[in-house]
Amino acid sequence: MRIFYAKYILPVTSEIIEDGAVVIEGNKIIDFGAREEIDSKYKIEKRFDLKNALIMPGFVNAHTHLELSNLKFKEAKSFQDWLWEVVKKRNKFFKGRFASVKFLKFLSERKFKNAVKRRIDEVINSGTVAIGDVSNTAKLITLLLRVPLKVQIFIELIAFKEERGREFFDVVKDLIEDINNIVRKHNLQKDFKVSMSAHAPYSVSEGLFKLIKNFNGSSKTSVHLAEPVEEVEFLKQGTGFFRNFLIQRDAFDPKWEAPGVSPVKYLEQIGFLDENTLAVHCVNVDEEDIEILSRRGVSVCTCPRSNFFLKVGKAPVRKFLDSGINVCIGTDSIASNRDLNILHELKFAREFYPDVSDVELIKMATINGAVALGFGDYCGSIEKGKDADLIYFIIPKDLKKSEIYDFIFQSSICGRLA
Ligand SMILES: [Zn+2]
Repeated sequence: MRIFYAKYILPVTSEIIEDGAVVIEGNKIIDFGAREEIDSKYKIEKRFDLKNALIMPGFVNAHTHLELSNLKFKEAKSFQDWLWEVVKKRNKFFKGRFASVKFLKFLSERKFKNAVKRRIDEVINSGTVAIGDVSNTAKLITLLLRVPLKVQIFIELIAFKEERGREFFDVVKDLIEDINNIVRKHNLQKDFKVSMSAHAPYSVSEGLFKLIKNFNGSSKTSVHLAEPVEEVEFLKQGTGFFRNFLIQRDAFDPKWEAPGVSPVKYLEQIGFLDENTLAVHCVNVDEEDIEILSRRGVSVCTCPRSNFFLKVGKAPVRKFLDSGINVCIGTDSIASNRDLNILHELKFAREFYPDVSDVELIKMATINGAVALGFGDYCGSIEKGKDADLIYFIIPKDLKKSEIYDFIFQSSICGRLA
């Protein structure tokens, strides 16, 4: 057993403690509280006084794409331009159905892995302890099994034509079953989860959405939802950018008819939305959509810097929170962001959403993210019995309690409590 002392403890789900202590055994939080109270209860040799420090739960970055660590872009003029750029860059490397597998073969393995490792370092050094990572190739599974993070991998399917979706589903289903066998064999299922996710309503067929939901059962799933405004037009009228985009890429299904409702309502109607769904972005939503997300218990991940980068608009985070929606935060990929540093994301979010409080932002980046990824019972806050996925900041000697949040939002790095 070890005791860590610090000037401040920020448990997130309870009040800030001044002159506090956390008792840890193995990787479990045994107790926490005021220094004197803990000292009177525990006579332990191993005591570490961090003095002028703040201890808090580590952050959860609920939406990343580590596989895109090599695809860096200049700030986009629009979502449309950006999407074509992504396609152009990737087309250079692959042709064929399961394109991204071939695409990766063309990249120098080492260069690619180094780029990914750099991003993982960035994630860890910014105090992140859990990620929700979208994967198109499962290429990084072995690497991610070795990182000191809780990981929820969403193997993402993209297929707008029904037949193609079915074939793709069969391949990924077997892949996930194989990965899960390995995970169970090594007893890693608590910290390492793999499930299937859908790319977006404009790129996944109705049948494929249903197959994914069915296959996942009570596992978490994810979807990019209501990101650009063009997605709303496509779902409501069947026209506009996405129709042309799919046709030009020979991915359009001529039998398809627009559902005639918003992307959120469409996913509700086909049974994709519930408390195991993580809807990413949700920028272009109306009041009815917000009500649906709330009623269905969907978690929403906001990616403010990515939304700004792609000029898709601003998610109504204040309204989400007021409707009781579990809102979390993610950096998205390096293809639409400068870095994967969650502290930088929070700093930006504070300016971007001035009507969201500091306390709410910190919850979004800790406990809410943990809940959204299925780690909420044992991660995301300082509570007895939870995992000690804790971080610390070295703070100025005279930092007042009221200045704690300012300090966090101005930081770029922090340490992981061993
Ligand atoms: Zn994304």
